[in-house]
Formats: sequence, C-alpha cells, structure tokens
Amino acid sequence: MSDQTLTIALSKGRIFEDTVPLLEAAGIEPLEDPESSRKLILETSLPNIRLLIIRATDVPTYVQHGAADMGVAGKDVLMEHGGEGIYEPLDLAIARCRLMVAGPKGGRLESRHRLRVATKFVESARAYFSRHGRQVEIIKLYGSMELAPLVGLADCIVDLVDTGGTLRANGLEPWETIAEISSRLIVNKASMKMKAEVVKPLIARLKAAVDKHSTVA
Ligand code: AMP
Repeated sequence: MSDQTLTIALSKGRIFEDTVPLLEAAGIEPLEDPESSRKLILETSLPNIRLLIIRATDVPTYVQHGAADMGVAGKDVLMEHGGEGIYEPLDLAIARCRLMVAGPKGGRLESRHRLRVATKFVESARAYFSRHGRQVEIIKLYGSMELAPLVGLADCIVDLVDTGGTLRANGLEPWETIAEISSRLIVNKASMKMKAEVVKPLIARLKAAVDKHSTVA
C-alpha cells in the first residue's frame, strides 16, 4: 500500500496567516503557531498531515523534489521558479498584489537608453521586457528595490505592489502591470498520482473553502 501521509510546505507570515483559515475549513488545524514555535515541522490535528515552515522562495523547490507533497506559494515565486515538476491546481485568492514596473514620478519607460531595471524577480522581468521587445539591463537585488532609482543604480524597478504606499513614500509610481499575483496551491506531480486518495479530496475541500471565502468577501 502506498504511503498516504501528506507534507504541506508553506512560509511564515502573511501566507501562513491567510492559509490557516482555509486549512481549518478543510479540517486541518496546525497544533502550533510558527511565530512562537521555532519548529520547522508542525503537526496538525490530522495525524497523516504535517506542515513544513520554510522560506517562501524555497516552497516550489521542496515540492518539485517531493520533499513536500503540496505547498502554498505566491505566483511571483512560481514564475521565478518556472514550475518544473509541479502542478498548480488551485488559486487560493490570498496575499493578492501585483507585480509591476515602477519608477520615478513622471518618468517614462520609453527612455532613450537601454533601461536599467533593478529587481529580485529577474526571470519575470526578463521575460516581460523580452515579450515587449525592449532591451533592458537587469540588476539583481535581494530587497529594498525602491532605493535603486533614488541613488542612480537603476532607472526603474520590478516589484510587488499592494497599496502603492511603499512606492509613494519613496517618490516612485507604478508604470506598468506585469502580472496579477495571488498565492497558489501547488502539488508535486508524482504525489498527485501516488497519493491521489488524500491529495484529490484535500484539493476539493480547499477549493470549497476558497469559494465560500470569496463569496463572503
Ligand atoms: P505596498 O506598500 O502596500 O504597495 O506594499 C509593497 C511592499 O509589500 C513591497 O515591498 C512588497 O514586496 C510587499 N508586498 C506587498 N504585497 C505582497 C504580497 N502579496 N506578497 C509578498 N510581498 C508583498
């Protein structure tokens, strides 16, 4: 008989907080809070289901290699990862924001020289500008992208924007939308087959929870 235990990877913070109500609606309660516990493996109210608490950008990697059967990851993270070995069966409609090109107020993308774009979303930015036939130089950063145009490191940035407050506080404005972002349920391709008995009903329960949540909201 196949092993029907299930490991679900997700990150602390916003994704965990927004995913827990959906998991609870699907009958899965974490037995500890990752904000107060230092444990990286959390047991749940169901003995065959456990949670891995890892960095958001590592979630697709754990799921791709089968170290986790399922996971919750932002579309931004999935676009950077490329999605190899992973199914993306459900939009959880949480942690919504936009991946945008942004730059100094009144600035424009049609500048004379090859634009320098600062971002940690290197793959998404490269694909976007190449789709639009624009030559750009991508400068990889790991955070605080808003600073780059202010000190002349780049002409514009590619970053996640929610309220736009961070951009405004730094004299920047949104220029173009690259993608609408939300968190997705992802599943290891082999687990989808080998553990179908537990994976498929869980996807259905999570989908029902998402549908209920979005009609209430
Ligand atoms: P805001 O000032 O509301 O536009 O938020 C922008 C900042 O929050 C940026 O630094 C983003 O990296 C971060 N952010 C906003 N929404 C998300 C999200 N859904 N997931 C991860 N980071 C986000």
